[in-house]
Amino acid sequence: MAAMPMPHLPTQNALSDRVCPWCGSGDTRLIQRGYTGPTDEVDQYFTCDRCGKVTYELIAKTSREMRLGRFRAGGVYRDSAHQTRYLVSRILKVGLNEYLVYLKPMPAAEAAVAT
Ligand SMILES: [Zn+2]
Repeated sequence: MAAMPMPHLPTQNALSDRVCPWCGSGDTRLIQRGYTGPTDEVDQYFTCDRCGKVTYELIAKTSREMRLGRFRAGGVYRDSAHQTRYLVSRILKVGLNEYLVYLKPMPAAEAAVAT
C-alpha cells in the first residue's frame, strides 16, 4: 500500500477537543507545554470548565523529583491537589536533568480502589 495520507484531524478551534475524563464534559481548555504564558508552563494539561478539574497529559520532573516520586512506566501518579489519579504511560528523558512523564487519567480508579 502507498503511504497513508495525513490522518484527517478534527477542526481545531480555540477550545480543545479534549473531553474531561472526570466528568465527560467537552468544555475544556488545553494549556500546551512550551507556550509562553503567564506562568511559563513546563507541563501540558487541560482544564475543564464544568468541574474545574485539571487533567495532565505530561508533566516535567527533575531527576531528583523522579527519584523521590519513584516514577515508572506502568505506575500510578497521584495528583493530590486535584484528587485525581493517572497511569504513567511513558517516561522520556529530555535533558540532563529533566524528564517528561506521560500520564493517562484513571477516572475509574477512584471507584475501583474503594473496597
Ligand atoms: Zn470535568
